[in-house]
Amino acid sequence: MEKIQNYINGKFVAPKAGKYFDNIEPAKGIAYSLIPDSQAEDVEEAVSAAQAAFPGWSGLSIEDRGDWMMKLSNGIAARMTEFVEAESRDNGKPIKLAEHVDIPRAISNFKFFATGIQHFASESHEMVGVGINYTLRKPLGVVGCISPWNLPLYLFSWKIAPAMATGNCVVAKPSEITPYTAYLLCKVMEDIDFPKGVLNIVHGFGHTAGDAIVRHKLTKAISFTGGTTTGKTIATIAAPMFKKLSLELGGKNPNIIFDDCDFDEMMSTTIRSSFANQGQICLCGSRIFVQKGIYERFKKEFVEKIKKSKVSYPTDPKAQLGAVVSKSHMEKVLSYVELAKEEGGTILAGGHQVKLDAPYDQGFYLAPTIIEGLKFDCRTNQEEIFGPVVTLTPFETEEEVLMMANSTEYGLSATIWTNNLKRAHNLANEIDAGIVWINAWLVRDLRTPFGGVKSSGVGREGGWEAMKFFTEAKNVFVKY
Ligand code: NAD
Repeated sequence: MEKIQNYINGKFVAPKAGKYFDNIEPAKGIAYSLIPDSQAEDVEEAVSAAQAAFPGWSGLSIEDRGDWMMKLSNGIAARMTEFVEAESRDNGKPIKLAEHVDIPRAISNFKFFATGIQHFASESHEMVGVGINYTLRKPLGVVGCISPWNLPLYLFSWKIAPAMATGNCVVAKPSEITPYTAYLLCKVMEDIDFPKGVLNIVHGFGHTAGDAIVRHKLTKAISFTGGTTTGKTIATIAAPMFKKLSLELGGKNPNIIFDDCDFDEMMSTTIRSSFANQGQICLCGSRIFVQKGIYERFKKEFVEKIKKSKVSYPTDPKAQLGAVVSKSHMEKVLSYVELAKEEGGTILAGGHQVKLDAPYDQGFYLAPTIIEGLKFDCRTNQEEIFGPVVTLTPFETEEEVLMMANSTEYGLSATIWTNNLKRAHNLANEIDAGIVWINAWLVRDLRTPFGGVKSSGVGREGGWEAMKFFTEAKNVFVKY
């Protein structure tokens, strides 16, 4: 079986202890490659390489750094088919999703920060008749980037690209559930002779390799995307060490649909915002609130359409949903369906595993699930499920839906469907979320701030926010 390797100081290396664990293909439920079980000693080597590379990399002109980032972007594009197939195989997502969303976005992330850094400027503040302050924005040194499994290369590159563009050297760990495209990225680095030590990729589990990155004295910042509980553990370690922290965590996003919306557009977007990537996108709208005037019409059409959607193996060009990422995740999602029943919910569609023919008969497939009849404050409606499960809740007034939307501990994103401009702006203003879409979902401009409030995270990624996070502001005053 193929052995994935770490990439440290510009070389593919085995984990020092020589241990590996299985990489499972969700579509078939069987192992297809081996992942390094890296430990603190491997992270130590990666941090040393990054530290040694820092003076050279941070000393490059921004044009040269931008050129290197652009070469990474072009290098992924040159191996597009390989990346698309690998992402779909590793994660279980339909191949067309990897082709249209994941890999193109990873290419854009490098391109965006390669050019963005050329326009990144700092401030000056004149004190009339006294002198002038100017702000320098210095790279931090070595930084740690840790990412999840749902949009593997997309989210991995969303961190490492701004980190490197601003002059830092990186020790990064992709999810141990979906490591393959980060490994392919190392092949691109080898293809283009990328400066050694600038980006070091260490594979392994969170509690060992991830923990070692967080604890290392020389990692000055930790950029993490993943679950809220993991975020808490990381903050407990990193905060007393006074590291900069960016935490992008879980969500339980409301999708609020008013009577006066454009029904057909809302319906087709709601199908995507509910079940794209098997519902495993942190921005999916898993709590659907529908105003009473159109509740029955919405329910009938939504259920009919979802019952017809095709759950299939990822390489099936007709697959609308592929496999969920792992057996344990599938079991977790199914346990929430059982909980929903106990809490009085009615399953309108799905609620069960889907069995495909061989060789996919051991894969992790779930039918897209719609539940109604639950109280807004029950566990099913408060806890993150992160799978193909949505709940329907009717409402009458703006006040009522705002109260229900804001009732969870999370605050990542929200979607509002209405043609009433005043109501749209008012609700967008009042809702607890870092990102609000009005009559749209997942439209992303990479310049905009990205992140959540409450237990959905701390800090923002994207555009200037990311470049500010990966730099330290130093104010200098000069007397006239
Ligand atoms: P996870 O928290 O289990 O793992 C994320 C990463 O952290 C993995 O690389 C893992 O190995 C690592 N990790 C785990 N324990 C660690 C520790 N103690 N120290 C250091 N690293 C550790 O999350 P997941 O299951 O991979 O991803 C799903 C979660 O990610 C969901 O909650 C989802 O909402 C969230 N997510 C959030 C966003 C966002 O932008 N807010 C985007 C995508 C996913």
